[in-house]
Amino acid sequence: MTSKSSAKFNLRTVLAGLTLGLTLIVTLSAWTLDLTAQVPSATDEILRHAKYLASDELTGRGVDTPGISLARDYIAGEFAKYGLRPGGDGASYLQSFDVAVGVMMKEPSSLVLGHQATLAVNEDWIPLGLSTSDKAEAEVVFAGYGITAKDYGYDDYADVDVKGKIALVLRYEPPPKDDKSPFRKLPDSSTHAALRTKANNARDHGAAGMILVDLNHTGDEKTELISTRNSLWRGGNSLVAAQVKRRLIEKWLNSQGVSLTALKEKIDQGGKPASMPVRGATLQLQVSLQEVHRRAENVVAVLPGTDPILKKENIVIGAHYDHLGLGHFGALARESEGRIHPGADDNASGTAVLLDLARRLSALPAKPARTFVFVAFSAEELGLYGSRHFVTHASFLSSTKAMINLDMVGRLRENRVTVFGARSGESFSNLISETAGELGLAIVQSDNVGRSDHMSFYNRKIPVLHFFTGNHADYHRPTDTWEKLNIEGMAKVSDLVLLSALRIDDSKAAPAFVSLPSRPSTNGPGERPGFSTYLGSIPDYGANIDGVRLAGVTDGSPAARAGLKEGDIIIQLADKKIQNIEDLTAALRGQKPGDEVAIIVLRTGKPVSVKAILRARG
Ligand SMILES: [Zn+2]
Repeated sequence: MTSKSSAKFNLRTVLAGLTLGLTLIVTLSAWTLDLTAQVPSATDEILRHAKYLASDELTGRGVDTPGISLARDYIAGEFAKYGLRPGGDGASYLQSFDVAVGVMMKEPSSLVLGHQATLAVNEDWIPLGLSTSDKAEAEVVFAGYGITAKDYGYDDYADVDVKGKIALVLRYEPPPKDDKSPFRKLPDSSTHAALRTKANNARDHGAAGMILVDLNHTGDEKTELISTRNSLWRGGNSLVAAQVKRRLIEKWLNSQGVSLTALKEKIDQGGKPASMPVRGATLQLQVSLQEVHRRAENVVAVLPGTDPILKKENIVIGAHYDHLGLGHFGALARESEGRIHPGADDNASGTAVLLDLARRLSALPAKPARTFVFVAFSAEELGLYGSRHFVTHASFLSSTKAMINLDMVGRLRENRVTVFGARSGESFSNLISETAGELGLAIVQSDNVGRSDHMSFYNRKIPVLHFFTGNHADYHRPTDTWEKLNIEGMAKVSDLVLLSALRIDDSKAAPAFVSLPSRPSTNGPGERPGFSTYLGSIPDYGANIDGVRLAGVTDGSPAARAGLKEGDIIIQLADKKIQNIEDLTAALRGQKPGDEVAIIVLRTGKPVSVKAILRARG
């Protein structure tokens, strides 16, 4: 594969050479070498930045963790060192904005079972983070696992009426009875087990509220209740909902002659719902939740242009410096919640290269004609908040003519860099290929816009480029550490971006915006829509081949269970031929969680067929 892509690549360089004429190529190369040599990339500096930003002291740079301020001050300090002008609020480098980081409970919140005393919140019960702020007082209807799986003929709501009642539902889902079952065995789970699915389903059946109980919990009572933070679902909340400790609800229902344990047993054994109203058992639930907001800050620095006219135009180079913090939101490994997510590749790497570029551009003997604006964005992981705030500033918006984003540039492999959005600027495609060619880098241009801060600019019709060195199994996990960074590779990305930016600057006319054919998703990384079928393959976005090459597979995922591994090239899924990532996405969309599908991969050149049982994402 290496030889194939580099062969293609050389051919492209040769073709470009023929088109442009040899003289021009020679001139460009000389220009290039000269510029990269004038202020060379500094690997020791890049390493220092990345290592510090990804250190434990910076607590994963979560917007609600102390480390984010250290990162902010470090970046501002570097910008000052390079003699860059502050571009934030007032005369500072910081551009501050508000961001919702979660919810917290407030008064009044209460739960009363029958005629008992009010239960102690956080001790005996806890609001679910997805709850609305509301109250309900109604009779309890036991609604099994709260699942409606029509295709499979299982419906906990089939024989009970929960209209205006409070649905009492069990956490998780029934154990799978057969191969056709959409349910998964713990610790796996299907979309049916998701709290959000249960809450929406209860709402759709007209319930006034939902009470969750975890009969599977066997450990210490202290860990039985799900923290409000971890049961959070951003936006579109459906009904008032809480979790109560099993000991308390069982005792109360036992006094009404109902055994939850026996009902659960009945469902689990028989594979059929055992829903029933609990006549006369009335409870009162009130939940008040408040969004928790934090101030977050972009760090903005300006290198004024030298051309009297062109200096009114900006080229923005950006990278988000926030990450997942302790991984409460956005983390992929549930068991690692509460652990520091260092985010070395995502995105200490981009921030380090951003600083390298700011240093280099500000030190060039001949400064660029246009103004360069360097932005370290915050709150990207929560939903592109920082970049969205930046583009709402009229002055920046109207003067910004191009935006270059660095997000995950720390794992260069086979000298291959993926560039998203290259077709959003008229001249970008050729410019990138030529520049990369001179630096000995292979470029894979993706037709997608990609999903990071540059989206906020693209949505405002500004041409964008997003540089990316590819996905890996450590993405959004505590294992994304600085030791795994390719520092030399980051220096090469710095060269590539430096030259590309200078070439954009070098042209008289600002690049014209080109709308890309497929409408990009407006979801930020933290706003992914609901549930879809999940395989757990980590595509190698840079692989320039027929099929989807895997950069890895997620541990414990359907792909891992099916025996897929790094280097495999998926060429078929079920009856669909797979040529690219979009094919794979569409093929997965045509499947349901729980489906068993045949997947054909090329492994060391030979086709191998495996079977995977798909799961729900979410
Ligand atoms: Zn990122």
